[in-house]
Amino acid sequence: MENWRQELEELDRTGMRRSLRTVQGAQGPRVRLEGREVLLLCSNNYLGLAAHPAVVEAAIEATARFGAGTGASRLVCGGMEPHADLEERLAAFKGTQGALLFNTGYAANTGILQGLLGPDDVVFSDALNHASIIDGCRLSRARTVVYPHADAAALEALMAREAPQRKGRWLIVTDGVFSMDGDVAPLPALVRLKEKYDALLMVDDAHGTGVLGEEGRGSAEHLGCLDGIDLHMGTLGKALGSSGAYLAAERTVLDILVNRSRPFIFSTNLPPSAAAAARAALQIVASQEGKELRASLRRNRELFVARLRQEGLDLLGSETQIVPVLTGEPAPTMAASTRLLEEGIFLQGIRPPTVPQGRCRLRATVMADHAPADLERAARAIIDAVGAP
Ligand SMILES: *Cc1c(COP(=O)(O)O)cnc(C)c1O
Repeated sequence: MENWRQELEELDRTGMRRSLRTVQGAQGPRVRLEGREVLLLCSNNYLGLAAHPAVVEAAIEATARFGAGTGASRLVCGGMEPHADLEERLAAFKGTQGALLFNTGYAANTGILQGLLGPDDVVFSDALNHASIIDGCRLSRARTVVYPHADAAALEALMAREAPQRKGRWLIVTDGVFSMDGDVAPLPALVRLKEKYDALLMVDDAHGTGVLGEEGRGSAEHLGCLDGIDLHMGTLGKALGSSGAYLAAERTVLDILVNRSRPFIFSTNLPPSAAAAARAALQIVASQEGKELRASLRRNRELFVARLRQEGLDLLGSETQIVPVLTGEPAPTMAASTRLLEEGIFLQGIRPPTVPQGRCRLRATVMADHAPADLERAARAIIDAVGAP
């Protein structure tokens, strides 16, 4: 215990200690935190679907019909109708032969990479990929070649260098929208490379699904290359307002995962309510209402970003609803986020290992149902907090 206590004290001293907070009530653009109403500027519930009446109703109805839990993993007896319905819907949404649910995005990424790759294989991974992809690469025991962020030319040079000693499968893996930078992967260039070098391309669209593209099908729709992606991974807990994750892909790939993916095999299936809620959310995403929510999200994002850019803040490469403000070191970052919270604006300072050393930031996320006046106020407060830490 004593050395753990010392470790925590050291984290305190360096501004690196993490701790938990409890939001009161449902997730929305404003929430209660420690008894006070605050503007929520750090949720991935981008379209507000987590508390949407139709989504909530679907979860209640599924619980009434199917119960609260599934009682076992899919391979035992935990597979139920809401899961099969949702998989069918996800496959249609991404235009693939099928889809397979996982309990979280973390379980999906670790389970897909571990299930599909082995020691003879090579995985090419973007330097800013999500931690769950990094852990999946480790679990897979494949050789991992990290390429510079979003740099297709550098990736090609690495692939050319690897080619002479190739033994097994090759897989390129990237976030569609990068979770801490808010930029979009160069997918058309990656599609060309995966074709040229006979590799598979996996996109983690945790932050693109529901949000990007005319129909909300994600970053690949946005960039016009939906058919070029072999493995469409995405999550149900962000824009879709529920919980869980999926892989949409060819049937053969899914069948291998059912047989080999440890996080899929050895874990109790998602509750029926989570699957039914995600299915209701997908229906909204595909509807006129979904189009309007995406338009509202884009307008809100433009307004917010324009204010911050006017003041010359470094928003890294943000192109989406994820808007980082670079602050550098941990201490000023956490001071700024504390000051913002005092002013009723709730967003998180992001530190290593989530981002590289010296690249700490305030990570703001815009929602479709934020009031424009609230975003104006938040932008002013951020400018003040970052300017005078
Ligand atoms: C959030 C996130 C995940 C993990 O998804 P969970 O369902 O929260 O476990 C995976 N990849 C990316 C890019 C993410 O942002």
